[in-house]
Amino acid sequence: MVEYAPFLHKYLDDLHQTYASLQEGEVADYIPELTKVDADAFGIAIVTVDGHVYQTGDTRLPFTIQSISKPLTYGIALEDNGVEDIFSKINVEPSGEAFNRISLEHATGRPRNPMINAGAIAASALVSGDTPAEKIQRILDVYSKYAGHGLIIDYDVFRSEKSTGHRNRAIGHMLRNANILDQDIDEVLDVYFQQCSINVTCRDLANMAATLANEGVNPVTGVRALSSEHVPRVLSAMATCGMYDGSGEWLYQIGLPAKSGVGGGIIAVLPDRLGIAVFSPRLDAKGNSARGIAVCRALSQDLNLHAFSNERYSSVDVIRTAYNLTQMRSKKARNTEMLEVLSRDGHKVAIIEASGELMFTTSEILTSYVCTHTTDARHIVIDLRRASSCDKAAAQLIIWLDELLQSQNKTLILTGTADKSGLTKYIKQIIGKEKVKQLFAIDDLEQALVHYENILLEDAGISPFLTEPVPLEKQPLCESLTPDELGQLTTFLVERSFPAGEYVCHAGDQDSSLYFLIAGEIGIYLPLNHDRHQHIATICAGGSFGEQAMLEQRKRSADVVAITDSKCLMLDYEKFAEHKDERDIQVLQLKLLSAIALDLSKKLRMADQEIGFLTF
Ligand code: GLU
Repeated sequence: MVEYAPFLHKYLDDLHQTYASLQEGEVADYIPELTKVDADAFGIAIVTVDGHVYQTGDTRLPFTIQSISKPLTYGIALEDNGVEDIFSKINVEPSGEAFNRISLEHATGRPRNPMINAGAIAASALVSGDTPAEKIQRILDVYSKYAGHGLIIDYDVFRSEKSTGHRNRAIGHMLRNANILDQDIDEVLDVYFQQCSINVTCRDLANMAATLANEGVNPVTGVRALSSEHVPRVLSAMATCGMYDGSGEWLYQIGLPAKSGVGGGIIAVLPDRLGIAVFSPRLDAKGNSARGIAVCRALSQDLNLHAFSNERYSSVDVIRTAYNLTQMRSKKARNTEMLEVLSRDGHKVAIIEASGELMFTTSEILTSYVCTHTTDARHIVIDLRRASSCDKAAAQLIIWLDELLQSQNKTLILTGTADKSGLTKYIKQIIGKEKVKQLFAIDDLEQALVHYENILLEDAGISPFLTEPVPLEKQPLCESLTPDELGQLTTFLVERSFPAGEYVCHAGDQDSSLYFLIAGEIGIYLPLNHDRHQHIATICAGGSFGEQAMLEQRKRSADVVAITDSKCLMLDYEKFAEHKDERDIQVLQLKLLSAIALDLSKKLRMADQEIGFLTF
């Protein structure tokens, strides 16, 4: 099985351990067969809408679904009869009453909602099928789609409930009396009792919850269980009435549409994100799993899952783009030998650019991606320039990821966090100021890329620095020139030196000279709005710049700054062009222009590749 974010299994294990000691509550005994369950059984499972499964404890132990069947059958009834028909027979008002209360609305005789027994019995009677057998088969088929495999009925539990379910029989007769149902009540209850006796595991329930989170499509199998138009109807009934007479408090504290069953299961749904299931048979006074409630409360708080939390939905994809150093590298000029090493070893550095709101759900996607897609990498850079916010749960996941990567002798750094006070604050709060140094060691993505390229080059035994001066005759643009032509070119060149930090030229300058960099290193920066700059290239000795302004005879488009003490030879192109009628100057010009064209073509190819990754 693919390990998505393995530290989440650890988190669930810890949660399991914490709540295993909670012994509150009693196993349901009004259906005698239910008492045979192992009261200590305890499982927790989460399935995300991407199909990632996280589970711990007794997640494969079968037990009966009981009332968690209610929202599922309500969905089938909506599909089989249409919204209006169902609404005329089953209302959607929270009753605040116990699940088995014998009460119908005074004026209409309708059950108050589909999550209490009266509404649920009516809903199962309204499932398509000419016979009870056909109805229960339809129910089994649909539930199996939710679970992702064929489910079966526990006939011992069914018989046990059938022989003791007089209260439900009374509810059935009341429904018949109110003209909500016209079928034989024993047959109706046979379907309802069988539906409640379908065996599921905690893992199955998490799939079911995730199917509801995923607009009705099981995210693991891709099979649709409920048409998407009915999903919001089912979820709103769960949100307002799913936890019996504890529904209000549940929504207030935990904030997720949910449904519990007296078999000990609870499902909770965070729409568009994930489904949760907990199985623990000891029930509180309201008939909800006591541990189940405690675990869901902890999950909702720890992972910030409350559906009405301020930072809820983010529609932006969290992974904006991902690449390694063979696919896109820094803007720093490198010689051929260096480029060979980087294209051979560049897979050891993975870069993931994240965007949008970082919360548990989006960070789970991000960290799972790192765990599953960067297995070849030794260094991982997560760039957060475009992350708009970060909550505590996201910070926790990033820390767990860091710990995991460290245990694998890998490094993680976060770039683009300088103005993300939320993220840095939470991370520092969780692991302490001292420990975060490595994570925030380099903030600028370009600098991080250069740093890791340098490491790869050093590992390959090559100095990453081009410190040797490159005289004119060795300049790539001059490779095809004869000594005479070089001599001629020299007559048009002016030598200029720039101490580190000095501007060679500014964006907007009326300067169309071409520069050959003989020694040093210069940076090219594109001015953006609000005083920000985009570092577009670092040129080392042997490189040239200024060709665009020269060719187009336009103003400079970027700032050029000496990074180290630098020496340039500047070609005054206007002066050069004044001699354009001289034959040998024409040859020189042609050779120079072809070399520039070749260089531009290479740059364009790289830019195309970069655009490809940025629009990934
Ligand atoms: N079969 C059970 C009943 O109707 C389901 C109750 C429940 O899970 O809440 O009594």
